[in-house]
Amino acid sequence: MTRTVYVNGAYVPENEAQISIFDRGFLMADGVYEVTSVLGGKLIDFEGHAVRLERSLNELDMGMPCTMDELLEIHRELVRANEIDEGLVYLQITRGSDGDRDFAFPDPETTVPTLVMFTQSKPGMMNSEASKKGVKVISIEDIRWGRRDIKTVQLLYPSMGKMMAKKAGCDDAWMVEDGFVTEGTSNNAYIVKGNKIITRGLSNDILHGITRAAVLRMAKEAQMVVEERSFTIEEAQTADEAFTTSASAFVMPVVEIDGVMMGKGTPGPVAKRLREIYLDESLKKAI
Ligand code: PMP
Repeated sequence: MTRTVYVNGAYVPENEAQISIFDRGFLMADGVYEVTSVLGGKLIDFEGHAVRLERSLNELDMGMPCTMDELLEIHRELVRANEIDEGLVYLQITRGSDGDRDFAFPDPETTVPTLVMFTQSKPGMMNSEASKKGVKVISIEDIRWGRRDIKTVQLLYPSMGKMMAKKAGCDDAWMVEDGFVTEGTSNNAYIVKGNKIITRGLSNDILHGITRAAVLRMAKEAQMVVEERSFTIEEAQTADEAFTTSASAFVMPVVEIDGVMMGKGTPGPVAKRLREIYLDESLKKAI
């Protein structure tokens, strides 16, 4: 089946989709994105992603190319057209193309943003092997720019981080700045000590994860204690458990950090429980 994608108002087969070579997303990473998961053919936390998208656009003086209702309808139409049961909807908005290359932003009156969306089918995502075995992470220095709260498409360093992890025989990397863990290459990072879940507080240093917000709320509802503070790799290595959260991997147990095994080297009970609660609650609220 040829994938149907969405480009600036049109649903087209993926091999017919076109974007200008002058698009600022392509030339300057001048764009933002969102990834919303699909379970049972329904969208998980669409509203959370839509609200963060609006915030990212505002921070970059970019306009929203359509209404939230229209955005929801495009998501749904792509899920329908591509028969997605488990998978993702990727959305990207760039500042568009004014037909040339210039550092200064083009006039928004004459240059409209580019909106691209496509689906990725990921059967078995909910019960992935990785979630049963847990993942191994390495630590790397966080050398990204200072506005990581804006979900821009500048993903070169996170990609390099994944490659560094792969080369070390691991799955992912946790980034460290001034001695403290910021986040994973594409997820938020947590440790567990007793009944306490510890994760870095929100600031410009990390992406304000939509899954993070949901998981912390659910953890509190389940009478767990949440402590929003920074932690070091050393503290993580001696914690009871570690895990990450993201829209595409939900709650993912971490079983090794820089070669040090966490507990018995298998997913811990808190991460497992939070994953169950998150999936359960999310499925109930999916639209
Ligand atoms: N941090 C970074 C750097 C990310 O790329 C992501 C995933 N996009 C996250 C955290 C998790 O965010 P969310 O739960 O909204 O997917």
